[in-house]
Amino acid sequence: MGIEEKLPSGVLLSTVEKVAGWARARSVWPATFGLACCAIEMMQTGGPRHDMARFGMEKTGSTPREADLMIVAGRVSQKMAPVLRQIYDQMPEPKWVISMGVCASSGGMFNNYAIVQGVDHIVPVDIYLPGCPPRPEMLFDAILKLHDKIMNMKLGPDRDRQITELEQARLTMLPLRVTAGVDHLGSEL
Ligand code: SF4
Repeated sequence: MGIEEKLPSGVLLSTVEKVAGWARARSVWPATFGLACCAIEMMQTGGPRHDMARFGMEKTGSTPREADLMIVAGRVSQKMAPVLRQIYDQMPEPKWVISMGVCASSGGMFNNYAIVQGVDHIVPVDIYLPGCPPRPEMLFDAILKLHDKIMNMKLGPDRDRQITELEQARLTMLPLRVTAGVDHLGSEL
């Protein structure tokens, strides 16, 4: 966890991007957005057994202006969607989103008109966490994966280039079933 691990032979050789990424990843402050049963597991992560503060997440608040990570835990109703978006808009850049649980990620078992079928219809999601509900350990795993992502985030013009490359890669990506050797109707290619 320490910066020592990043120092080759005791000499600090790093770019500004790496230093900024390291500092950002270790000071993520979440704005928790508990909406259903998944929220109980999310609350557990702040307790003494799991202790989210170990990862620089000492401050967990409901103040969006002091937060840079939104954890959406539970199904998002149509009624709550504009509120969620407003909270997200009030968070300063850069900011990230973890979608916790199958309901937040895809609507889960609630395939009906009242529930948004995936919070990525409302805000951009960085990490999708599966499970019903995911255990606190799983949420930690998602948080640590987000740390890796933040550490490798570019800055300035490099960031714009990175976003363009990611978008291009996504646009040219084949559907999963096609990459597995079958088309979308199940016929072998
Ligand atoms: S994923 Fe499961 S635990 Fe989480 S909100 Fe949906 S039903 Fe509840």
